[in-house]
Amino acid sequence: MMRRSCARASALLAIVAFVLLAAPPVAGAPGAPRVLLIATGGTISNRTGGRLTAEELAQAIPALSRYARAETEQFANVSSSEVTLAQWLQLARRINAVYQKDPALAGIVVTSGTDTLEELAYFLDLTVRDVRPVVVVGSMRNPSTLGYEGAANLLEGFRVAAEPASRNKGVLVVLNDEINSAREVTKTDALRLQTFQSRSYGVLGVADSDRVVYYRDVVKRHTAKSEFDLAGVTALPRVDILLVYQGATGDLIKAAVDGGAKGIVVAAAGAGAIAPDQSSGLQYAASKGVIVVTATRTGSGRIAAGRRSSLVAAEDLTPLKARILLMAALTKTSDPVVIQRMFTEY
Ligand code: ASP
Repeated sequence: MMRRSCARASALLAIVAFVLLAAPPVAGAPGAPRVLLIATGGTISNRTGGRLTAEELAQAIPALSRYARAETEQFANVSSSEVTLAQWLQLARRINAVYQKDPALAGIVVTSGTDTLEELAYFLDLTVRDVRPVVVVGSMRNPSTLGYEGAANLLEGFRVAAEPASRNKGVLVVLNDEINSAREVTKTDALRLQTFQSRSYGVLGVADSDRVVYYRDVVKRHTAKSEFDLAGVTALPRVDILLVYQGATGDLIKAAVDGGAKGIVVAAAGAGAIAPDQSSGLQYAASKGVIVVTATRTGSGRIAAGRRSSLVAAEDLTPLKARILLMAALTKTSDPVVIQRMFTEY
């Protein structure tokens, strides 16, 4: 009898041990918020001799378990400029699906190369339909470099994603202790660690060693309040950016239209000026039903709606961000009035 209950107990122990060992790797204190890391690559994982996986990135962060129970998923492991628009669609869909299926998940961290991070982050800001945080993180130094800041940025990304005050703030970009809005942030320096700046707007908050602190909110439409639904979207429309400079010609605009662009963003001088010869290109675009948006090339400030009746004004969006909003807009409409409304709301 005694021997039988001992045998039963050890069988039970074996089952418990098997279940524990077979469970997906989840680190962290039992009550800590669950945060999913989705890794796409970039310098943050680009170790000499082989890129780090999502799991290796999470395992290399000291003290992570104090803030979150980390779960990991490898989406890609490439530099940001290699990520395709089809992968953007897949990633946004994946994040929406994860949030829909897992109401107890506190937040999601996405790693990205820094070069085009601001573009991916803004695309997610427009297309992830949930109030829970999506935090995009990268690093300027790779894991084989002295002073690698990737682990610190990732830890802060996890802390921001686990923080209830990060809800409803749209997609966030966290590097260098600073929390920026995906809509506003820009990579401003090719090499320096403090490269991500929101220029005249400043940070939304900071991830300091004692706590995550917010100073302001994002008032523009994003994430849960976005109207952009990827359900029926099979591919993003081609939208090109053409720069205005002294002596710029209209033939490049025509070439973009002939190449299949459904929208064009003109990175205009000052508050909307274009080079004289570019007018012919814009007329050609209009004759083919291609939507043209003007954004300022200056890096900040705005172009007021209605300044030129034939053109949509990007307001304060940089040309890079205006392109992404125009791509999203064109998945729904090609009516310039509706698109102008979108540019004033997002
Ligand atoms: N080339 C890298 C990338 O964008 C740069 C970085 O991650 O900092 O993927």
